[in-house]
Amino acid sequence: MNEINRREWMVWTGALAAAGAASGQNAAEPDWYHRPMRWAQLAFVEDDPGRYDRGFWLDYFERIHADAVCLSAGGCVAFYPTKIPLHYRSKFLGNRDTFGEMLAACRKLGLNVIARIDPHAAHQDVYDAHPDWIAVQDDGKPRRHWAMPELWVTCALGPYNFEFMTGVIREIVSTYKVDGIFANRWSGSGMCYCRHCRENFKAFSGMDLPAPAGAPPEVADRFAAWHKQRLFELYSLWDGEIRKINPRAAFFPNGFDAIRDRASVPILFADRQARYGTTPPWQNGKNAKDARSTFGSKPVVGLFSVGLEAPYRWKDSVQSAAEIRAWAVDGIAQGFRPWVIKFNAKPRDHRWFKPVEDLYVWHWKNEKYLRNVRPLARVALVSGPRAAQDHASGFYQALVEARIPFETLVDYHFDPDHLRPFQVLALANAVNLSDAQCAQLQAFVERGGGIVATHETSLCDERGARRRDFGLAPLFGASFAGNVIERQQNAYLNIEDHTHPLLAGLEDAGRIIHGVKRVEITTPAGLREPLMTVPTYPDLPMEEVYVRDTTTNIPGVLVRPAGAGRVVYFPWDIDRTLWEVLNQDHAILLANAVRWAANEEQPLSVKGPGVIDVSLWRQESSITAHLVNLSNPMMMRGAFREILPVGPQQVRIKMPEAAKARALRFLVSEATPKWRQSGGWVETITPPIALHEVIAIDI
Ligand SMILES: [Zn+2]
Repeated sequence: MNEINRREWMVWTGALAAAGAASGQNAAEPDWYHRPMRWAQLAFVEDDPGRYDRGFWLDYFERIHADAVCLSAGGCVAFYPTKIPLHYRSKFLGNRDTFGEMLAACRKLGLNVIARIDPHAAHQDVYDAHPDWIAVQDDGKPRRHWAMPELWVTCALGPYNFEFMTGVIREIVSTYKVDGIFANRWSGSGMCYCRHCRENFKAFSGMDLPAPAGAPPEVADRFAAWHKQRLFELYSLWDGEIRKINPRAAFFPNGFDAIRDRASVPILFADRQARYGTTPPWQNGKNAKDARSTFGSKPVVGLFSVGLEAPYRWKDSVQSAAEIRAWAVDGIAQGFRPWVIKFNAKPRDHRWFKPVEDLYVWHWKNEKYLRNVRPLARVALVSGPRAAQDHASGFYQALVEARIPFETLVDYHFDPDHLRPFQVLALANAVNLSDAQCAQLQAFVERGGGIVATHETSLCDERGARRRDFGLAPLFGASFAGNVIERQQNAYLNIEDHTHPLLAGLEDAGRIIHGVKRVEITTPAGLREPLMTVPTYPDLPMEEVYVRDTTTNIPGVLVRPAGAGRVVYFPWDIDRTLWEVLNQDHAILLANAVRWAANEEQPLSVKGPGVIDVSLWRQESSITAHLVNLSNPMMMRGAFREILPVGPQQVRIKMPEAAKARALRFLVSEATPKWRQSGGWVETITPPIALHEVIAIDI
């Protein structure tokens, strides 16, 4: 962990973070990033100048109590009277300054203002003057814009960005003293074979650029390293130039996975605007957790669109109020500060204004309880760029269904400081783990931590080379037998011990279905575990569907104490199969495994009907529990049409350091609560929940 991250983490886990104390700040303070709780973005289109109703938007920003806005300034189209040659001015601009006028008016309202630029496309005059600024295809031809062929796609890693856009950024920051520059599509639009990219990569590596059909691993590795370095140089250049002119401003790159580990952004904007198709409705909450797992205590802002998110890009559309609210609220419940986006300042469909206003006004009224200092979850689901997504999604679903509050944790944060808040780590097929990571996990369990691992966890090293045995074999109590079954049909698990806590809720089950993939293991002879494998047997002809060998001796799970902690290992793809098949027995098993491995009661318990996504937070002088009702016939696919309320929920909350509760409120229904504190726990029953309830406890 680098020093900056370490310090931030200490702030978060130790004393109260600056985030908690920032509410009294004004927009002009140097460390303004912590202040804004509600963001809005107005992305101008070329014909907005002189044709849109500025008063309407200012009134709307005021009504929704926005603290900060992002306004389009320049790049592809300038919305201010730029003096930079080749910086294309909107042909509707005339002698106006659309950006500057809006900025000044927003400042009067006390808002922080950042300027949006988009450097990915350029007009014909740019091409004519500097053909080398344009991206080049693998056939050597300059690249026309895929959506608008009269424009050209720019090269992100050449002089267009490094020289021309640097000038644009300097002009915007020095003219308007904006609080920062937000760049969309700044990091390129795929492979570029221009002269600069070819020469720069050659100088870096001595190699030619990888061919579109693919490249040998050593070329691909060098290209990835060069690409990352070049992007980081661009990020550093722009950030440095901005700070030179305005020390309280910064560069905010939209989408910067490649340089995530090096960028020192003071605030994170996560851009996943809505769901589409089978995206689960908890995905926006996961986005917030993932952002926090990388950035610790920095403010994380979740961009959400009022329109449809689909490959057909109806960027000027509006979706149902239920869908907009469910997406935004699940993000807020898991720690996002909301940022609503509208492209085109001349709205034709007004249906989104009221739902967003209602949500923002509620957010403003209850801001004190939304300015979180830290999450109180004791469980972390390990994720990261290398995580097996279907396994992680299945595990995520199981924890949501079980109403267990949890964080996500990137797999390079296994040091004691990052692990300290957690009692259980869920390793959803964490295949690639280095020896050092395995040692950190071993130490975590020895100190009393719990682990729930699935399938091929620790079977490979960090570079993907398969080990002879699991890196975590001593924790699992099993060894790799040399084979992974990639597809088994019609296999089951016999229940050996119905009284084991792993089987809670499955007491009446005769047996349960196995998964699809299975790691073959060796264990001490005669070992009996709560679940034993019934290997696959014929599923056709139907007359042949019966168990041949009833003397099953392959454990379907390994459940054991280790050091001062506890370990559960499923040598199969329980999480991935859950995500594919959605069998509830698998969800119950995973949740029970986490509860057993924790060896302590979860700090939040929510009992009642429905699917509820929960979270538990500490603020400066309060505790909040969020309950988001995701129960919906359309939950697993398609947009929400309406919010279907669920009945009352029995809630039990652990008070940190056994603090005394002074008052309890329901922040959404505003119903009068009945509650009591007994020992270190507060108990209450909520009224029926439409979409969202927040239980706020003053301490
Ligand atoms: Zn290029």
